[in-house]
Amino acid sequence: MTLPKKIQVAADKWFMVREDKIEDGKLGFIDFEKKEIVIDERQPAAGKYIILLHELLHFVDEQNLSYFCYKRGLTEKQVTYLASGLLPILVYSGLLKGVTRKQMDDFIQQIKLSSEDFFEFKD
Ligand SMILES: [Zn+2]
Repeated sequence: MTLPKKIQVAADKWFMVREDKIEDGKLGFIDFEKKEIVIDERQPAAGKYIILLHELLHFVDEQNLSYFCYKRGLTEKQVTYLASGLLPILVYSGLLKGVTRKQMDDFIQQIKLSSEDFFEFKD
């Protein structure tokens, strides 16, 4: 499983994707100035893709607020819920090849066995 190195988010916009050890407790972040998404390299495949979706949803949110002038953005919890809800749909429907069905099954099982704060992503 490899994450894409670069994600084109609009005709003239993209983010580089980098895996790294993030030491401040975050699992990932998006840097709008550097045009970079950083994902904790220690996460399993499904976790990395949920973090990637999470950070892309922050981009969607930012774009909607600034470009389309929406009045209100998504909360951190809404971003987290959307990302973790979207990934299984993308994997099981075959739209996303970076995570196998088995990896998705295992990840969901792991979440069920872990504490509720497993998905408390920080900004
Ligand atoms: Zn976030």
